[in-house]
Amino acid sequence: MKLKEIGEFGFIERFKPLFNDLIQDNQIGIGDDCAIIPANETEDWVITTDLLVEDVHFLREAITPRQLGYKSLAVNLSDIAAMGGTPTGSFLSIAIPSSIDVEYLDEFMAGYHELSAKYGVALLGGDTTKSLKHLTINVCAMGKCAKGKARKRSMAQTGDLICVTGQLGDSAAGLKLLLEKSPRIAGYDYLLAKHHQPEPQIAEGLFLADISEVHAMMDISDGIASDLKHILKASGKAATIDVNKLPVSDILKNAAQTLDWNAEELAASGGEDYELLFTMAPENLETIQQQFAERFGKPLYVIGQIADGESIVSWMKGDKKTELGRSGFNHF
Ligand SMILES: [Mg+2]
Repeated sequence: MKLKEIGEFGFIERFKPLFNDLIQDNQIGIGDDCAIIPANETEDWVITTDLLVEDVHFLREAITPRQLGYKSLAVNLSDIAAMGGTPTGSFLSIAIPSSIDVEYLDEFMAGYHELSAKYGVALLGGDTTKSLKHLTINVCAMGKCAKGKARKRSMAQTGDLICVTGQLGDSAAGLKLLLEKSPRIAGYDYLLAKHHQPEPQIAEGLFLADISEVHAMMDISDGIASDLKHILKASGKAATIDVNKLPVSDILKNAAQTLDWNAEELAASGGEDYELLFTMAPENLETIQQQFAERFGKPLYVIGQIADGESIVSWMKGDKKTELGRSGFNHF
């Protein structure tokens, strides 16, 4: 059997039960953005790991080594943010092909250090080895949460609003510009930077984890169409998303118009925005939105609602049903 027949998650389901007996009752293992492990009387550890492989996750000729170092840590800190955690340390392992020189690695580490310094996250260890062809990077990041306060994907409740911390689709648009070798349209550099140097929403995650109305949370790595399903499955809920409410930047709108792209589709299914996707009880929404806007200088976007039912996303355009297909939304 080929792996593609069952996919990444099918593979995980094959071995996950073998380890269930080995996990202690007070630990949370595979299936969330981070594992959760008790640290002491007042705190839990949240720990994650992520792999970046050349030509699968990045194109070496398109991203600068500095950006690649920054992004390698950013995607891991984003998983700490998704739990509402404070990052405390990281481990870095790299398999390096002979085509890469020391100056490249110095730049890579400068980018990795830039983000480490921003959040006071020490590099605590790792490994280096030779690779025959592709540059391969593995990062493990650890952080801490107040005991029992980590936000899990399983916490969504019926009636919760579905929210995001920022605009969607810019990163996917940046990747599309690269892959389609598009001309340097207006906003080209902005969209590419969004793809190559994402910002983990650490402060936003901490702010949200402090609010009792905020329930399930995760970061957006594969696009909300696919990421939201993880929350729905873990929580046993359904969701409705209003396509009209997906926050899209003016830069992406203009790019989509110039290049005949579907901005809504990029916002719904484009990955790697690394914003936070979360659900919250509707009480006190206005107060929370106001506090969020004051603190972060950007709006908190409400894009849909959690309901009882099968774990699927129903897409709406205002009050009309729509469907997310391969070429964007198909209206009934
Ligand atoms: Mg994640």
